[in-house]
Amino acid sequence: LPPFAGAVEETWTIGRVIAWTSEFFKRKGLDSPRLTAELLLGSVLSLDRVHLYTDFDRPLQKDELAAFRALVQRRASGEPTHYLLGRREFYGRSFRVDPRVLVPRPETEMLIEAALECLGDHSQARALDLCTGSGCVGVTLAAERPSLRVVATDASLPALEVARENASAHGVADRVELRAGDLFAPVARERFELITANPPYVETSAIEGLSPEVRREPREALDGGPDGLTLIRRLITGAREHLSPGGCLLFEIGDRQGPAVLDLLGTAGFPGASVQKDFAGFDRIARAHRD
Ligand code: GLN
Repeated sequence: LPPFAGAVEETWTIGRVIAWTSEFFKRKGLDSPRLTAELLLGSVLSLDRVHLYTDFDRPLQKDELAAFRALVQRRASGEPTHYLLGRREFYGRSFRVDPRVLVPRPETEMLIEAALECLGDHSQARALDLCTGSGCVGVTLAAERPSLRVVATDASLPALEVARENASAHGVADRVELRAGDLFAPVARERFELITANPPYVETSAIEGLSPEVRREPREALDGGPDGLTLIRRLITGAREHLSPGGCLLFEIGDRQGPAVLDLLGTAGFPGASVQKDFAGFDRIARAHRD
């Protein structure tokens, strides 16, 4: 365990603490050990990473060491870094995150790129963001397109509280309407120019094999049923009647779900659908258009 809490004789500078903790995280087999040490220490000291380096020789106070030590222990026992920080960057903005919501992933930023492309310079568009979670997709779209109106839905009330906080923090609460309910249930008979979703798509049997960090995330944000496609199937079936003519449907999918998802889209009347791979070469974003 981190030795520095009781070690009053030794001077634990920012530099030494980072070096020790990086080594500790590395021995524990955690991803990005040094970055994690820096992010956690930065949050305790309210310093960004650049300032940790300019203040490298600054000794830490006893209470700072104690607070940091507690975070290091929690991280080592499997709590996700971004829950400990309470924040995660997404598409250049900082989002509040905690165990009520899935931590936004970098590959989900591809959904934003595709959505902005689909919106073009449409000035009166309305977008529907399903399974909004932290709100990272819906809030980002509203922030990127100042005339866009977004309806964001989630079955989880606790998740919607986080989304509400994020919509306010990014100044788009007046254009992001949050509604509770299962998929399209809160938008009966409404149509949108764009539908986005990052639905749960992990096969139930694969959940156990996920990293301890991912298993701390809300199960209902991950578990896509026996073949991972339970929500996606319902999303595809319901999408058409909620899209305006010419509207786009864009959603995230699992690593190898591309062929099955294209089949489902074809059957549901989206013949020209396509799947985009992520930077690791995995199936990731499904795109379809209503004619
Ligand atoms: N991308 C998540 C993972 O890494 C899954 C998210 C989801 O099911 N939408 O497991």
